[in-house]
Amino acid sequence: MSQGTAVAAMRGQQDEFNPFLAMAQRFETAADHLELDSGIRDVLRTPDRELTVAIPILMDDGSIRVFKGYRVQHNFLRGPCKGGIRFAPDVHLDEVRALAAWMTWKCSVVGLPFGGAKGGVICEPRELSMGELERITRRYTASILDILGPDRDVPAPDMNTNEQTMAWIMDTYSMHMRRTATGVVTGKPLGLGGSRGRREATGRGVMISCREALKTIGMRPEDTRVVVQGSGNVGGIGALLLHREGYNVLSISDMYGSVYNDQGLDVPAVMAWLRDKGRLEGYADADHLPNKEQLELECDLLVPAATENQITSDNVDRIRTKLIVEGANGPTTAVADIELERRGIVVVPDILANAGGVTVSYFEWVQDRVGYFWTEEIVNSRLEQTMVTAFDEVHQTARKYDVSMRTAAYILAIDRVVSVYRMRGILA
Ligand code: GLU
Repeated sequence: MSQGTAVAAMRGQQDEFNPFLAMAQRFETAADHLELDSGIRDVLRTPDRELTVAIPILMDDGSIRVFKGYRVQHNFLRGPCKGGIRFAPDVHLDEVRALAAWMTWKCSVVGLPFGGAKGGVICEPRELSMGELERITRRYTASILDILGPDRDVPAPDMNTNEQTMAWIMDTYSMHMRRTATGVVTGKPLGLGGSRGRREATGRGVMISCREALKTIGMRPEDTRVVVQGSGNVGGIGALLLHREGYNVLSISDMYGSVYNDQGLDVPAVMAWLRDKGRLEGYADADHLPNKEQLELECDLLVPAATENQITSDNVDRIRTKLIVEGANGPTTAVADIELERRGIVVVPDILANAGGVTVSYFEWVQDRVGYFWTEEIVNSRLEQTMVTAFDEVHQTARKYDVSMRTAAYILAIDRVVSVYRMRGILA
């Protein structure tokens, strides 16, 4: 079957949207290049540990509800597990599994001494009070406590969780341990063992990835028209940093719609509006477009920084960009990848492009363990160094194997994990 036919055959099929299958497909492609045997593939595909917990909560109105939570530890051969916790109504186990595996590959590709994990609680945070959110967070933490710890598994923020959530997790864990254990989570508030630069780190890493990627196609920031899907911790901060570096940011979106100005947006003004009003709707100095259309705008650089499954077999033909830098985890489906590659659109994959967050999480964990905190300049310069090195390594691997940056990132990441299995004597 030709690749074009493969895309047509997959169109609309449910499997395309299963993040775990999407991860597995990329994994297999890289494993083929590494000529891994089926036993090793089995080991690496299978999550080490999966925990499902029931979280009973007394709601503000006096009723009782039971929420479901997960923590999946995909692999902890290279060090403690690392990965965020998300709160969302559509969290499901296959998604958490995929995100956990992506964390393993992400930590490996940027050379952090961590394995991968991810957690999630099925809930609609916008319908919950602060008190309810706190109770959910604390009970979820208590339920997964046995597998947490600075040397075991270190959560961090993800979708709809933030510094406050991390502070509750840290406090709950510390109460059980009878000591203050800051190193059990990252992404904490500064006054509680957080790191300078952590909040901006994912967006900053995206900005660095954009810059390095532009160099490879011979473009300059000031000639680059950018569309950013999202306006949260990754998209919002990413857009601000890109704007500051001289890029022409044409469009930004939130979950309700997007703003577009073909002359370029005043990004700080858009972000100030969003902070004030809570949504982009009503912002004056721009046109408003539905999100579906935003992704199809003509640009040079597209930064999907919202959620999974945004560039798919349904819209890939209408994507008009030269470069995609994935701020979100899993925004492109495996089928869409094939088509993007065929059309010569360069994709900097999620496990590299958004690794700035977990990189500064690593710095935070190190600072907590040593008890000595770094300046923002030091954090940012070490982040810069880590991202640029990883980008170069992925780029060289892509050349060596004559593959896409995505496949190259997987090759590099998987190879490092396999070599640890061998060094530890687990695999021959
Ligand atoms: N949730 C972020 C990610 O997907 C950060 C994880 C971390 O810092 O551990 O990379």
